[in-house]
Parts: sequence; structure tokens; C-alpha cells
Amino acid sequence: MPSEDLASFWMPFTANRAFKRQPRLLVAGRGMHYTAAGGREILDATSGLWCVNAGHARREIADAVHRVLSQLGYATSFQMGHPAAFELADRLAELLPGELDRVFFTNSGSESVDTALKIARAYQRARGAPERRVLVGRERSYHGVNFGGLSVGGLPNIQSPFGPLLPDVAHLPHTHDREQMAFSRGQPVWGAERAEALEEVVAERGAGTIAAVIVEPVAGAGGVLVPPNGYLERLRAICDRHDILLIFDEVITAFGRLGAATAAERFGIVPDMITMAKGLTNGAIPMGAVGIRRYIGETILDASPGGVELPHGYTYSGHPAACAAGLATLSIYRDEGLFARAAELEPAFEDMVHGLRDAPGVIDVRNLGLMGAIELEPAGNPGARGAPVMQACFDRGLLVRLAGDTIALSPALIAEPSHFERIGQTIADVLHSF
Ligand code: PLP
Repeated sequence: MPSEDLASFWMPFTANRAFKRQPRLLVAGRGMHYTAAGGREILDATSGLWCVNAGHARREIADAVHRVLSQLGYATSFQMGHPAAFELADRLAELLPGELDRVFFTNSGSESVDTALKIARAYQRARGAPERRVLVGRERSYHGVNFGGLSVGGLPNIQSPFGPLLPDVAHLPHTHDREQMAFSRGQPVWGAERAEALEEVVAERGAGTIAAVIVEPVAGAGGVLVPPNGYLERLRAICDRHDILLIFDEVITAFGRLGAATAAERFGIVPDMITMAKGLTNGAIPMGAVGIRRYIGETILDASPGGVELPHGYTYSGHPAACAAGLATLSIYRDEGLFARAAELEPAFEDMVHGLRDAPGVIDVRNLGLMGAIELEPAGNPGARGAPVMQACFDRGLLVRLAGDTIALSPALIAEPSHFERIGQTIADVLHSF
């Protein structure tokens, strides 16, 4: 049993003192629900943390992990290998669009992002353009917490305690303008021209200095910001024009969140790299991956014949337990048709979130796939409005996630419309109660 004051565990991204005064402990999970300490059932409207896309505690994944841990336990991927890592890379290459058929394994989304940024620079060097170093991110984006991802990310409150961050970084403006696009259903029709800001960065810095642009196709942690119609297409065209790599950070959007294997597939755009994590193992075992266009991988390999081409990797890259979890997870997605199911559920989900537009304090509602946001009018410090809403939902048996004062929803792809009704009703009750 943990100590009564819960003091030893310094919890991440948590107001520790407040939490420990009023802990919310989860002790079990099954399907769409958690069980809280004390036995209360909690409907999970957030898929854990955007990751449990196939629902909680899937037996197939647990069994696969158990089997491999009893048989192999650990094998390094440095100069050695084990079959499941190659098999999982093959399966991912099949899921990814275009020629993204090289896969590098990591242990998290943050590591996937830093890996992709390093590969972008290594590629530019390998093709004889070492002066292409600049990494372009975007305001209001979240690319994890390691120094690379933090530097290209665009959330000042998580950057400011840790500066100085990486040099040779530029930022595009975010795409959200409430006056133009509030309460859009799906992709806003206004805003594609925001992509032209990349031309301004090119004009200012010179195309020959830029290695890559990284964006979340739908920004998650920054408040569920849906890309305007045509915006990502324009970004792709500008990158092509100036020979700049385009990285989609799909840590949230891959594995069915938008009703397709990837956001790239949903939008019909092929980036040069895709970062993944979360839904890759249904959240059961930490794992991330980067999908890389073949010519990028081949260029780096060609530049170092015989030696280690990419001096990068993690002790647990391609860990056997993670690979077993990944393979079992991908089989569940395929066998249960969960990506298509998410697409079928999208209209009911959209109706539910937009049904909250007239609830007290709501200033915007956004959605795409099974990602939704209900933005509340701020009251004082960012989050001051949202935090009590989250607690009140939890007290009523519903887990929601807050991004500042925005309620972010991302139910598992196994949800039923009746779950959406409960989510909408509970949030409406809570907002009326304040
Ligand atoms: N990139 C995106 C788009 C994310 O949403 C996240 C996490 O939510 C990350 C990167 C970081 O992933 P992790 O927390 O696994 O390091």
C-alpha cells in the first residue's frame, strides 16, 4: 500500500499538492470504463491519455506480452535483433501512406519527435546540405517534453522554466481564429492561407537553411485545433517547392483517432515522416515509432557505407514486450475494423459535442474524427475555469481531459452512441451547475 501522504511520487504534469489532498486513484479498467479506488465506475472519455484506442485491459495484448516476457524478456536492437521488431515494422509500413516504409522504434512520443528531428538533420547532412539546420514548428503545438520537441513546440508555459531551448528553430502561427471559425463542424473553411507563413520563414531565413517543418495535423494538447480546409495541402506544396521535409506528429492522430490509420490518410497528404506512440500499443506498454520515407533512410545509409549510419537509439528501442503489444494491438484494430468504426461514429460524436454549444460558459466547440473540444470562457489564470469542471465530471463518474480551459474529448474507438449521450449529458449538467 502507498504511504498515506503519497509524497514520494512526484507526479508529472500535475499540481501535486492539490492532487494529494484529494487523490483520484484508478485501480482497474475494462472497455470504456475505469474503476476508481472505492469501487466507483468512471466512464473514460479520454482513452486514458489519447492512447487506449481499443478500450481498457485488452486480454489479447496482456496475453501476448505475458508470453514474450516468459520467453525472451529483453533483447537489444543494437547490433542484435529479434523477429517481432522486424514484423511490427513491416506491419506499420503497410499501414503508413506512400513510401513511408522505414520504421525507427522509440519508447514514447517525445522520443519519436526528437528522433524525427535528428533524422531530418542527418538526412540534410547526408545529401550534402548540412547548412539546412532550421527546424520549423508552430505556435500552440505540443511535441512532447524532450529538448527538441520542446523547442519546436509552441506552448510557452511548458517551455519557460527550461530555457534556453535549441537555437535554429522558427515557428509558424497557429491556425485558430475564433472570430472566423467558432463552432465549425469538422474542418473550418477559413484559414488555409495561414500556411503562407511558411513562405515568410523561407524568405527571412533562406530555403537553404531549413531542414524540416513539424506539425500536428490536428493539434491535441494545445486545445484540439482542427486544420482549416486546404491548410495542410498548402504546407505540403510549400515544403515541396523549397525541398523542405514535412513531419506529421501523429502521436495522437495515428491509429484510428480520425477514422483512418493516420491523419495523413484522412487528409490524403503524404508527409516525409510520421511520429507515432500511444495507440501503437493501445497504451499498454510504452512504445513510439517514426515512419520514414524510404529515400530518406536510403540517403542516410548510402552516406555511411559499412559504419553505423545513424548513431541514435534507445536501450529499449523495439523492446520485445512492446513489439508483442504492438502486434496484438494492430491485430485488434484490423480484426475489429476499429478505424472504420471510428469514421462511422464521427457524426454522432460531432452532434454530441456541438450539442453543448449553448451550455453556460461555452465559447467554442471543435471536432474531427473522435477528437472534440469544448472551450470555456477563461476565468483568471489559464485552467482556473477548467480544473473544477474536470473534478465535477469525475465526481459524476466521467473522466475528461483539460487543455487549459478547453475540455478535450477522445473516447475509445469501441464507444457506443450511448456513451456519447452520457458524456454530453454529464458535461451539460456540470456546466449548468456552476
Ligand atoms: N507529440 C504529440 C502530438 C503528443 O500529443 C504527445 C503527447 O501527448 C507527445 C508528442 C509526447 O508523447 P509522450 O508523452 O509519449 O512523450
